Amino acid sequence: MRLLVLLGAGALAGLAVSVVLWRGKPLKSPASPHDLALSALAEAPDWSKLNPYQHTITRGDFESLLTTVFTTGEAWRDLIQIDEHEARIRTGLPAPNAIFHLAFSSANTASPTPHGWRATRDLPPFPPGKPLAGLHLAIDPGHIGGTWATMEERRLTLGSNPPVCEGDLTLQVAKLLKPRLEALGAKVTLVRHTSEPLTPLRPENLLTLAKATAPPDSTASPQRLAERLFYRTAEIHARAQFINQSLHPDLVLCLHFNAADWGDPNNPKMVDRSHLHLLVNGAYSDEEILLADQRFALLYKLLQHSHEEEVRVGASVAEAMAAATGLPAFQYPPTSASVRPIPNQPYLWARNLLANRLYQCPVIFLEPYVMNSTTDYTRLLAGDYEGLRQIAGKPQHSIFREYTDGVVTGLSRHYSRNRYSKP
Ligand SMILES: [Zn+2]
Repeated sequence: MRLLVLLGAGALAGLAVSVVLWRGKPLKSPASPHDLALSALAEAPDWSKLNPYQHTITRGDFESLLTTVFTTGEAWRDLIQIDEHEARIRTGLPAPNAIFHLAFSSANTASPTPHGWRATRDLPPFPPGKPLAGLHLAIDPGHIGGTWATMEERRLTLGSNPPVCEGDLTLQVAKLLKPRLEALGAKVTLVRHTSEPLTPLRPENLLTLAKATAPPDSTASPQRLAERLFYRTAEIHARAQFINQSLHPDLVLCLHFNAADWGDPNNPKMVDRSHLHLLVNGAYSDEEILLADQRFALLYKLLQHSHEEEVRVGASVAEAMAAATGLPAFQYPPTSASVRPIPNQPYLWARNLLANRLYQCPVIFLEPYVMNSTTDYTRLLAGDYEGLRQIAGKPQHSIFREYTDGVVTGLSRHYSRNRYSKP
């Protein structure tokens, strides 16, 4: 947030052809220093990447998506001016008053929306029994796990039980999902196959940056801040680079297990509730939209209409996961400024996370179960098995297979119902 990244000449040279200095009716407030600010490890956006979206969206659709999905506050009004025929977007670069002009279409002159991924409706008819044929799915097992799980605060142990590490659990689900989805015709790529990071950076490489960007009121040590930059930020940037530059999938599934605050990881607080929710990209806060890279990412997502695809697929997966797990919908506190509920979808929420912002295609985050709930924890310790076992007084499937079944059923139903089948 406070980071003012110094840009090299190379970054400036790549900037947009249609970024011109603002001349005309001024936006509401003068450029603030925030306009030049970037998130940690973010590159300055290349606004010319929005040029293919000229004349692809109506003013009404643009304004509706911006105000009802992608923002939670009013700060955007100082940065994006919506006129009758165009949106004037403050880019922050190469000069504080630089503006990108995005021309609106009229309702019947809209050009097709270009993007590198295929929406459900763009997929060809599918052969019998293969509703996912032609679909390229990337599965991102959340976190790193293994020896990194303590550092990333995704490991708990109770008594003499073996540790439960979220990054290992998500990898286990990913490995169960891959052959099941392939059997339905999908091409499936795992973003990681082991409990090791993709990024070559390590906390010691990020110590200088951590010190330079430490919030003045931070109680964490520079070492701890560097560790967070490593596993939260650098690792997600590395995964984004792999997904965007090598994989080019049609959809990414980010697998997670949720948890309640557990306090001491070696004596975790256990709870008796469990729940389910799924996340799509949106709900950028006022602080986030002030950062040029996040403002750009918001617009890139909005203009690609990935939100609509995320909600369509996400609704089907949420419904199937709710049926498979029997879990109630998680509720964020009504005062939260960083999420938005998706109308008529009790399990779906919009939230701006680094992964669903950086991955340049529709992304669905899955957050089932609560790792430190008494029942889920017992099921996690039981590991993967076939059939049913008596756990917590009733016969239950392996939690990993139940998770997998929900995802497979939800995807299979969505694509079967929304694609044409070959006769
Ligand atoms: Zn997680």
